[in-house]
Amino acid sequence: MSSPGGKSSSIPLMGNEEEPTIFELSCTGRKSYTMRSTGVPVNELKDLVDGMFLRDDELDLVEVSERDLVAHFTRLSHRQFSVDLGFYPLGSCTMKYNPKFCDEVASYESLVLIHPATPSKFCQGWLDLCFKLTGALKEITGMAGGTLQPAAGAQGELTGLLLIKAYHESRGESRKKVIIPNTAHGTNPASVTLSGYEPVTIGTNKDGLVNIDELKAILDDDVAAIMLTNPNTLGLFETEIAEIASLVHNIGGLLYYDGANLNAILGAVRPGDMGFDVVHLNLHKTFATPHGGGGPGAGPVLVSKRLLDFLPSPIVTQEGDRFIFTYPKHSIGRIHSWFGNAVVLARAYAYIVFHGNDGLKTVGELAVLNARYLKERLKEYFPPAYDSPPMHEAVLTAESVTKETGIKALDIAKGLLDRGFHAPTIYFPLLVHEALMIEPTETESLETVDSLIDSLEEIYRCAYEDPELLKTAPMNTPVSRVDEARAARQLKPVYKRDTPA
Ligand SMILES: *Cc1c(COP(=O)(O)O)cnc(C)c1O
Repeated sequence: MSSPGGKSSSIPLMGNEEEPTIFELSCTGRKSYTMRSTGVPVNELKDLVDGMFLRDDELDLVEVSERDLVAHFTRLSHRQFSVDLGFYPLGSCTMKYNPKFCDEVASYESLVLIHPATPSKFCQGWLDLCFKLTGALKEITGMAGGTLQPAAGAQGELTGLLLIKAYHESRGESRKKVIIPNTAHGTNPASVTLSGYEPVTIGTNKDGLVNIDELKAILDDDVAAIMLTNPNTLGLFETEIAEIASLVHNIGGLLYYDGANLNAILGAVRPGDMGFDVVHLNLHKTFATPHGGGGPGAGPVLVSKRLLDFLPSPIVTQEGDRFIFTYPKHSIGRIHSWFGNAVVLARAYAYIVFHGNDGLKTVGELAVLNARYLKERLKEYFPPAYDSPPMHEAVLTAESVTKETGIKALDIAKGLLDRGFHAPTIYFPLLVHEALMIEPTETESLETVDSLIDSLEEIYRCAYEDPELLKTAPMNTPVSRVDEARAARQLKPVYKRDTPA
């Protein structure tokens, strides 16, 4: 391996060549910082800290100059696709463009410079924001109270299930089962298992909705709850919600609403009005925090009256003109430190206040309109998996193209990469063969949605005219087609650092 000092010609200038790892760029003695001399005497660490707290071996840190560091990450950033760069129609994920003013608000010094341990009387502004955000989410979902602590949708699910468990236990009941339709998001059964419940799956009817007969057949007094993703992962709205709610409540069970797909129903209907007892939201999908990059998220949980006493503590409440912490009587305890992921909360609050009721309703309407338009224009090439009009995402199938040409959903997705789009979700939901799950979101213009549709038509024609060509896609991306099975099993080895030239 070469060191950058000696062989600068091996450093790629553009994003299209192999980029070395930061370890390969490391060169002993290079730094991205300088320490001014201050006149304060220099002490050895071992004279200040007890030896038992010090490591014996050197820490193997990367040593690079600021110049090389910035160039490395800038080059990497040119190899990326992002929501800021182009259309990202990844279904089930709501990868939408996030307005920049939300970032600006969330970086106000008056918010970010506050230490999370600040006593409540000195951070009234933050508590005010948490109080008002909870109030807005209550209003949006039609629920009675909530917590902002969970850091993700899945943690919201776990929180909600622990609330359900605490509720049943407070009534001296130890129910064991939670029902999950096979159109639920994959995190649902995982959360059920983690919470100590046993997931029980029910199927779908011919319209892609919960099979009510199957539901009726397994409802008994061992059922703690049903978890519904609505719209479900087929992008379809559960039309028999009212009946499902009364069936489950009648046997003493509760209703959990996976609201990660809230984009579809914003301002139109509310889970609380449908009879749900718990809802989690993904602020990092619907409310202006980028999702999918592994960054911080927030999965607030909203509850009906009967679960208020069990909410994680503390809760921010208003007393006169002050905001204070209160501690629900039978709280399940903390599930995240401090306020949760505070900056995500600030972004969401900015987004909600900016849009107001009418604006949020428009967000929902446009998200649904874009998905329905897309489905209509594409149906002769890639028919929808189910006939009912989709909500925020369209689940199409490439099954007949695959049968007739050998071109699979995977090849179609790769073809889209070559045409400047992120791929849609493919092979999910599992019950649809050769699924293409496309979520346009409300932020894309008609021209952009049209250009995706045109590209899909072009790919469709290419599948019949020159399938071999399509199988080589993508050709225009920094990395072309990888052996996915091998890529998952054999990760690139970590490079050992060079000794300096
Ligand atoms: C994304 C999603 C989740 C999980 O949210 P995370 O924040 O990724 O944990 C749960 N349910 C549905 C329907 C989702 O789309």
